[in-house]
Amino acid sequence: MKERINAKSIIVLAIALLTVVYFWLSGDLESRVLGGDLFPEPTENIGQGPSAQPTEKPSSSDKVTEKPSPSEQPTEKPSPNPTTRPRTLEVHFIDVGNGDSIFIRTPSKDILIDGGERNSKAFDYLISLGIDELDLVIGTHPHSDHIGGLVKVLENIRVKQLMDPGVVHTSKTYEDYLTLIYEKDILYTNVKAGVKLSLDNETSLEILHPTHIEGKDLNNVSVVTRLVYNKISFLFTADAEIVSEQEILAQGYNVASTILKAGHHGSSTSTGDDFLKAVNPKVVVISCGQDNSYGHPHQETLDKLEALDIDVYRTDELGSIIIETDGKNYIVKTER
Ligand SMILES: [Zn+2]
Repeated sequence: MKERINAKSIIVLAIALLTVVYFWLSGDLESRVLGGDLFPEPTENIGQGPSAQPTEKPSSSDKVTEKPSPSEQPTEKPSPNPTTRPRTLEVHFIDVGNGDSIFIRTPSKDILIDGGERNSKAFDYLISLGIDELDLVIGTHPHSDHIGGLVKVLENIRVKQLMDPGVVHTSKTYEDYLTLIYEKDILYTNVKAGVKLSLDNETSLEILHPTHIEGKDLNNVSVVTRLVYNKISFLFTADAEIVSEQEILAQGYNVASTILKAGHHGSSTSTGDDFLKAVNPKVVVISCGQDNSYGHPHQETLDKLEALDIDVYRTDELGSIIIETDGKNYIVKTER
């Protein structure tokens, strides 16, 4: 009897041990233990100075990229099930026509950067994914093609925290946006370069711009963020122009990123040669409207990207663009 119990105990112990090893190997145990943490206090001045941030260039050897051709790209959307969070990270470049709206779903946080124009489909898109709460919203700068769509989002979706550069604008859209922040009692922070948010164990969001807002036009107060999920990184540049890109480089930030959202809808006033070289992206996403009056994206930008053999995805051609990653590899899905 005693021997039987011992044998049974050994089997139970072995199963438990195998389970632990399995979760450890899959990384799941770590996320179960450490997941769901709140935003820590922002760490100031991280990444200042070239020596503090050695440039890590994405090596091609550890990134096997599965990139279906446009014809075979599925139009599927991530399953809107708020109870089971995927271990993957998804970045949705929502097709909002003229403007930017980027929804980020990390293994533990839901974040929205900009909302397109007021009548954009950003809100409906979030609803279609079953999103009823956002951990963080970033209004990159007060132009209506970025914060306009945030008005409906703030009205209807619970937002825990909102960050923007703290630049006041006289438009009705900005007024409505600011009023809602106060009415809904949303934690509101004016961010500057140097803040780094640890979203969860494997994901961080670093603010690279602006260092200051005084004397700048609205495009060049844009909040620029770098999202890192293990070996895959994203750089969201809003409407920052070359002058801002130079400022970011001068601060010595590590900008190397797998995926770059081209600045200012692919305008030739953004994505300068130095910046593009430092970012060294595999993929560039351009968020712009069909037949827009600005001529975005500019041919100069497209030629530059083509010369460097960078994969370009445009919302005006492909609709919403979803990049899904497990932190090592990534796949690009498009709406059409
Ligand atoms: Zn814009």
